[in-house]
Amino acid sequence: MNEMSTGSPWPVLIGGDLRLEKDSNIFVVQNPVDGSTVGTVSRATQSDTHHAIQIAEEAMPTWRGMTSFERYEILQRGIGLMRDRFARLCQVVVQETGKPIAEAEAEVANSIRFFDFFSHESLRLQGEYWQNVLKDRDAYVVHEPIGIVGAITPWNFPAFMVACKVGASLAAGCATLLKPAEETPITALEIAQCFLDAGLPGGVLSVLPTDQPEEVGHVFTNHDAVSCITFTGSTTVGAHLLAGAAPSIKRVLLELGGNAPVIVTEDADLEQASTQVVRARYSNAGQACVAANRVYVDQKIAQEFTDRVVKLAGGLRLGDPFDSNTNLGPLINRQSIDTLEGQVARAEALGAETILGGTIAEYTPTSGYFNPSVMVAEASNEVFKEEIFGPVLSITITKDDEEAIRHANDSDYGLSAYVFSGGQERGRSIASRINSGNVGVNCALVSDPALPFGGVRQSGLGRERGRVGVMEFTESKTIQVSKAF
Ligand code: ADP
Repeated sequence: MNEMSTGSPWPVLIGGDLRLEKDSNIFVVQNPVDGSTVGTVSRATQSDTHHAIQIAEEAMPTWRGMTSFERYEILQRGIGLMRDRFARLCQVVVQETGKPIAEAEAEVANSIRFFDFFSHESLRLQGEYWQNVLKDRDAYVVHEPIGIVGAITPWNFPAFMVACKVGASLAAGCATLLKPAEETPITALEIAQCFLDAGLPGGVLSVLPTDQPEEVGHVFTNHDAVSCITFTGSTTVGAHLLAGAAPSIKRVLLELGGNAPVIVTEDADLEQASTQVVRARYSNAGQACVAANRVYVDQKIAQEFTDRVVKLAGGLRLGDPFDSNTNLGPLINRQSIDTLEGQVARAEALGAETILGGTIAEYTPTSGYFNPSVMVAEASNEVFKEEIFGPVLSITITKDDEEAIRHANDSDYGLSAYVFSGGQERGRSIASRINSGNVGVNCALVSDPALPFGGVRQSGLGRERGRVGVMEFTESKTIQVSKAF
């Protein structure tokens, strides 16, 4: 596919068949840096979604009926094509999101690593066997593909999120319908094309781009043939999908918002802590659900820690994401930048002090750059109970670990958290008391394909990645066999 250069719209990809829309049913993907058109994309309709489900139903027996090695080989060929098209995939990620090229390269490399991990997991989907559960009776358990999976991905990691969901569900033997975010459909289409070009049977993977996500989402939640919905995005939309899927009792896997706390104890290595916090806050322009949002730092080292963070964050360079010297790109769109500006203003009105940034650096035609920002706030400041999806860090001074842990846990979210402490034991002990699905002790979190990832409370349901991330797309079946006959 090379629609970008020819200017014709990107198609809806239904199981390998391309469906182009007439001009009245396309939407435009804009580059957040300069508002230029990255591409026009055909809008998937509800009838496309029904059609994709129908051919997925037809394709499921073929896909699940293959040997795991046959599935593995097809996935490996797709991964090979992703490697061949690496530069192109990175370019699209930068154009759709505005993230710096080094971050896009790291993301696409990670996506390849995750697809690779999941393809190997598909070889290891074994069952269990029990002898003599009764006299003359054995039993065994097989893990079967759950069925058709509807995957909904966000724009902040447009390649990586596709790998986490599509890689795992295909590896489990499920036909998969992918609805990418309206801001970043082309990355998803290009990745899917790698696997379709690799020989994925028609119908096993469809991509349904749209800027009217509720249309496709409604079919996912209501269609009886869809067995599982996997979603990454806001808590509000996640709750909506969960409610929509309830009447037909679908499995719903949710990776939702976060509001990661950071605890810095008085014996922490401050160079390490400040470097890692800046990395965990300002990567991806702060637009990550695991981003470090709010720091609770012991009063004895608060000044030095804050000075270090301000110096490092203040040194980040905003600019053209294709320039390798750029550390911070624009936010994804105008609404994000307005929301962030509003949060800073409300936080200030509630007594927070802005000690770095706090302002829009530059409006672009569709979005804007926000200066790296640091605010000092009371723990009670309501704004920092919200997810901050941008480069704004809050710092609160605490008197001891107990107070810091109390504030860290005072949240509706529980996705990720960070502890910086001089001793590993103290760090582990604090980590054990934080209500969160993921905790980094003396480090920013990295995405490792083998490690389960997910949230507690309003941050999500279920786990992604690792072996469990594949098992979520299976159902176990227990079979008892009488040996008497
Ligand atoms: P964000 O605010 O970060 O964009 P959203 O939760 O709005 O987070 O979006 C995440 C994903 O959910 C995107 O793919 C988006 O298109 C999709 N989405 C948004 N609203 C709905 C909906 N009502 N039904 C299904 N998908 C939706």
